[in-house]
Amino acid sequence: MTIFSKIIAGEIPSYKVAEDGSNYAFLDINPIAKGHVLAVPKMETDYLFALDDERLSDLILFSKRVAVAIEKAVPCKRIGVAVVGLEVPHAHIHLIPVHDIYDIDFNRPKLKLTSDEMKEIAGKIADFFV
Ligand code: AMP
Repeated sequence: MTIFSKIIAGEIPSYKVAEDGSNYAFLDINPIAKGHVLAVPKMETDYLFALDDERLSDLILFSKRVAVAIEKAVPCKRIGVAVVGLEVPHAHIHLIPVHDIYDIDFNRPKLKLTSDEMKEIAGKIADFFV
């Protein structure tokens, strides 16, 4: 079971922002921007592009709904998208509020946010998710 499956099952806590029947979204624990979210299919699949067409489309459409909610909750120019997947072997899409291209830099020092700040951001995004 991957760490993301444990999060989805509620065995490990997360700052959840959205969920539907097939997908789950939560704040990245080491955010590179305020409102950095991971959108994850519930089905455990290592590689994003190993998902079948239906599940991949479903995850992308879910990510779009989450991105719209992030945009409303966090001041930014738009939501950047990144797929890496080298650390956690469970497909996921990074949704990152950006002002310019340099905001998508996984080498930059991670933000240090308190648990209360993470809860507040997650709550705001969740409120805008439809
Ligand atoms: P990558 O697999 O390279 O796309 O990176 C995995 C991402 O998952 C990293 O940005 C981590 O900070 C994030 N991550 C790992 N464990 C957790 C967790 N328990 N809760 C939230 N995010 C996590």
